[in-house]
Amino acid sequence: SAIELEDVVKEYHSHGEVVQAVKGVTLDVAEGEFFSLLGPSGCGKTTTMRMVAGFEAPTKGLVRLRGQDVTNVPPNRRDVNMVFQSYALFPHMSVWDNVAFGLKQRRTPQEEVRRRVGEMLEIVDLTGREKRMPRELSGGQQQRVALARALVNRPRALLLDEPLGALDLKLRQAMQIELKRIQREVGITFVYVTHDQNEALTMSDRIAVMNDGLVEQLAGPRELYERPATVFVAGFIGTSNLLAGAATGGELRLGGGGRVLVPGHDGDVTVTVRPEKITIGTDEPAQGLSAVRGTVAEVVYLGTYNSYTVSLADGAGATERSEGADQTQHHSDGRSAARGGTTITVFQ
Ligand code: ADP
Ligand code: MG
Repeated sequence: SAIELEDVVKEYHSHGEVVQAVKGVTLDVAEGEFFSLLGPSGCGKTTTMRMVAGFEAPTKGLVRLRGQDVTNVPPNRRDVNMVFQSYALFPHMSVWDNVAFGLKQRRTPQEEVRRRVGEMLEIVDLTGREKRMPRELSGGQQQRVALARALVNRPRALLLDEPLGALDLKLRQAMQIELKRIQREVGITFVYVTHDQNEALTMSDRIAVMNDGLVEQLAGPRELYERPATVFVAGFIGTSNLLAGAATGGELRLGGGGRVLVPGHDGDVTVTVRPEKITIGTDEPAQGLSAVRGTVAEVVYLGTYNSYTVSLADGAGATERSEGADQTQHHSDGRSAARGGTTITVFQ
């Protein structure tokens, strides 16, 4: 693999306290893969990346690049490059000079500089803008210059830490597609950090979902969405309904005659159901189907679908008031319709 982390821990000492930013991360990134670290702010994404780049030494664990232990190798000898959200171009240098800078520093022959910078500007679609100064470019163009500047050195892997965070939504979406195209074209490994699940789902071959210094699940976008391994992943990626309770005989019984089939499971279970997998009806459900009974409390028109908030019949979600029950009140709009009871969200 291109990158391997083995049980990597990072502790910081700040104001007499020990902060565990990364609590034991193990993962591997394949050569040529578009790999994302996804998780909420403060979960340890940047720290993890800085250890891959060599800006931080792990407190414990190993970092390998292409099979070589680089845990104690300085950044400039790691053959990876990092692009940050604040992409800080040299303001007094033209687009061309910004991209050529690294090559010139390393005394690359002039002809080769010309060819490689020209090629790279073409890949990031900035041909014809060589003479512009950074202030004469849009945010998206500046970010593409930063990308070209990182890629022109031909690193074996590029680490991108929330590189689109400063752009507005429209531009960000356009750049997501651009980034993916560029990665395919140059064929190098990308490790991409984001807190935006849509961004990660759109671009990645595989995603490590991080929470509180740990990887909760490492999988492809489809598997993460369809088979979330933990309640956290289910809630963080898309909208999920969570139904918790004690299952007997492979069935979780809910109030009002509701039942959710959980074949092979007994005892305490938490079931996640995507809103678009549910259909609403007034007929008695067919045998062998999971069904709950409830009342539509709210309908919100959202263009491509309607979002229904359904209050379940009393007694649903056996662990009322406990943490599990609170989490069942999960809505696309973050509000709770039926205070005190269990609700689910249905998209149709
Ligand atoms: P993310 O990039 O996912 O937002 P970070 O890796 O930046 O998360 O931070 C993870 C945790 O480590 C946070 O709680 C943060 O406050 C803490 N942390 C990061 N860098 C330092 C540091 N240099 N000193 C002390 N604590 C730090
Ligand atoms: Mg960060």
